[in-house]
Amino acid sequence: MNAISPATENSESIAAELRRLLALRSYDILDTPPEEIFDEFARLAASVVGTPIALVSLVDGNRQWFKAKVGLAVCETPRDIGFCTHAIRGIDVFVIPDALKDERFMQSPLVTDDPKIRFYAGAPLVTSSGEALGALCVIDYVPREITPDQCNALQILSRHVMAQFELRRRLVALTRGDASRQEAIRALRGALDRGEFVLHYQPQIDIRTGRIAGVEALIRWDRGGPALVSPVDFVPLLEESGLILEVGGWVMRQAAADHRDWQRQGLSPLRVAVNVSPVQLRDPGFLATLQQALGSDGSPLDIEITEGVLMEKTEEIIQKLDAIRAMGVHVAIDDFGTGYSSLRYLARLPIDTLKIDRSFITAMTENADDMAIVSSIISLAHGLDLSVVAEGVETEEERKLLRLLRCDQIQGYLFSQPLSKGELETLLKRESAITPSPVEPGAAFSERRLLGRRRILGSGTSSDI
Ligand code: C2E
Ligand code: MG
Ligand code: MG
Repeated sequence: MNAISPATENSESIAAELRRLLALRSYDILDTPPEEIFDEFARLAASVVGTPIALVSLVDGNRQWFKAKVGLAVCETPRDIGFCTHAIRGIDVFVIPDALKDERFMQSPLVTDDPKIRFYAGAPLVTSSGEALGALCVIDYVPREITPDQCNALQILSRHVMAQFELRRRLVALTRGDASRQEAIRALRGALDRGEFVLHYQPQIDIRTGRIAGVEALIRWDRGGPALVSPVDFVPLLEESGLILEVGGWVMRQAAADHRDWQRQGLSPLRVAVNVSPVQLRDPGFLATLQQALGSDGSPLDIEITEGVLMEKTEEIIQKLDAIRAMGVHVAIDDFGTGYSSLRYLARLPIDTLKIDRSFITAMTENADDMAIVSSIISLAHGLDLSVVAEGVETEEERKLLRLLRCDQIQGYLFSQPLSKGELETLLKRESAITPSPVEPGAAFSERRLLGRRRILGSGTSSDI
């Protein structure tokens, strides 16, 4: 026989009660002001059964608290003397025809003193996961019976009360979410006004020469804490709120300004790529913003866009990309392979570069299919006169394979993590002092690897904006 010890039984019932109380708290209903809808349900219950008192009662840790009450002045009663405490133990209507004749209640002050309860019927308020939060109950000063129809009506009404609770809970969750979203957007607005966004730059390496061919500008938010906030955590909200138009404009101007500064310092000429969100590309003011950032001297700024945006309104996008390239700006498709664009479709687009998504590069050395994909992308891209950048190159094995596959450039932690402007300048100065071996370009960047490790950003770890 599978005997359950009293101790086990006890700990199980404590756990069940804890679950019930947590469920009750999740509705945020305790100690809230009266609401007409719940008063109405109570009035209806009283009139259906014909009692002077009706309550929407919630059984808290040590009290019964009434969200709605008809014919009773008090807002709560102690839990241990209450009837609803018993009603929540089952799923059927709990009926006490005469409390003075029931051992469990005959001594209760609610029976012996005011309000001198004699009759009680309570339909438990049960959540979809089976927790009984309280009861919709009717009370009388005289002993009496309840008909099956009245019982049924009480149960139906209790389900309606519960549906209202559910509705409220969802509404609270929604408005809470909205409030924190608004707060996050305000914080991002403040970050822009206070100049807290910074650009880091990740080198892109020419795989044949081993030299830095260009850099990608990657935004971070410096909130003053020990780590910078990753763009993964705030770019989606910038896009959703439309703030990306302003922030994206700042990124382009800042990247161009930094480039001018490198030119002034006589550092090796670089191309600087900025990420452009679909929201920016769709914006009618985008070309003007880009032109303004380029300035009269036409800084060699490039843009990276994702595949998704190319699938919509193709003709319009083609015209826009034509105009962008006419400014001397190169266009790269970022994260290539993750979207649905076919290479045939790409042939129609005025673009310069494909950046193969990191997921293929990571899988390529382990999985023959992924290697075949990378290999095909590279040869087909070359057939279309596009250059190819491999993203997220982390190992020497990947680099060697990509070289064999004739990839043009690589970008990844193997060479360098994204660096602050100052760190990149140090790197560029060192590079001009080193003559890299064309055979093993990676070796020339061992210094760089150390340098890059100083400030690693945990993308996606900080979601507390
Ligand atoms: P992305 O444009 O594809 O940038 C490459 C991301 O991969 C960067 O993450 C970079 O730090 C990371 N990465 C580079 N090499 C490696 C590697 O070897 N291993 C691994 N695990 N990761 C590597 P980050 O900086 O967190 O940026 C994430 C994304 O945020 C970017 O992806 C881009 O889509 C977006 N983003 C960044 N800056 C901007 C911006 O100024 N504007 C817009 N619209 N989006 C931006
Ligand atoms: Mg990018
Ligand atoms: Mg990418």
